[in-house]
Amino acid sequence: MREACNLCPRHCNLDRSIKNGVCNAPDYLKIGAILIHKGEEPPLVQGSGSGAIFFSGCPLKCAYCQNREISQNNFGIRMEAHNLARYMIQLQEMGCSNINLVSPTHYTPQIFESLSKAKDMGLNLPIMVNSSGYEDINTISKWYEQANLYLMDLRYGDNQTGNILSKTPDYWDRAREVIRHIWEHIGPLEIDKHGRATKGIIVRHLLLPCMLSNPFSVLEFLAELSLRIPLSIMAQYNPAFYQGEVEAMKRPISKNEYQVVIDKALDLGFETIYTQDLASPITYSPDFHAAKPFNDQLNLLALT
Ligand code: SF4
Repeated sequence: MREACNLCPRHCNLDRSIKNGVCNAPDYLKIGAILIHKGEEPPLVQGSGSGAIFFSGCPLKCAYCQNREISQNNFGIRMEAHNLARYMIQLQEMGCSNINLVSPTHYTPQIFESLSKAKDMGLNLPIMVNSSGYEDINTISKWYEQANLYLMDLRYGDNQTGNILSKTPDYWDRAREVIRHIWEHIGPLEIDKHGRATKGIIVRHLLLPCMLSNPFSVLEFLAELSLRIPLSIMAQYNPAFYQGEVEAMKRPISKNEYQVVIDKALDLGFETIYTQDLASPITYSPDFHAAKPFNDQLNLLALT
């Protein structure tokens, strides 16, 4: 009998070769897109950009997910570990500044196998975990030997909102726990002479309309943890992706809402704050069925 899956805080404790858990991921690698992404924070997109690999499935069920096609609708192709390793090498040869693993941890053993093969083939880029923030500490601890960069969402400042909008009753508890753990074990962002991030954590907060995400609570938690944590305040919420009944979620965020949150971060004294312009909802709305999901960058899987 294969090992039961407890990779994320859902702790489904089931054999994924027989039955899918909450994340809907199979027991083999399933990938939705591989492309050069230019839309991450500046130290992550030096060179030609960030070498992004989007994994299918997700333990969260966000009603506004802009990656829904791959995170909830099963879009993706099966891939063997050595083929993924070859794509990582290809991204390195295309001048990417890192390997950006988007929602990877429900494939932890399979990705570790790929990384091992890729390193044997000459991969030497920083490896980044790009996460929803809903992670199990035991699983994330195993990543510390594999990945130096952690791009972590902190979506909500309370459990109730996480339950309503992502069907995840303990999001705030688990995400705080894991961000604290990563901060204590990986530490502040390190940037090389080319402006490229090589190690550390960045925390993202996607602002939702009417301040539903409870941003002040998020910012106060991070400020208390450390003002050296780079904070990325995101404006790219797009109501076109929302599939739910909360009336307030059916409009974009306002300029005023965004400015209030930026002012709060400045007042708290964060050393590094990344912001977006309010045109971001259009710029960062992907179509994973298209050959170029983000309008400008070809999905390498479209070539196969
Ligand atoms: S990774 Fe998927 S199957 Fe495993 S515990 Fe989490 S939701 Fe369940």
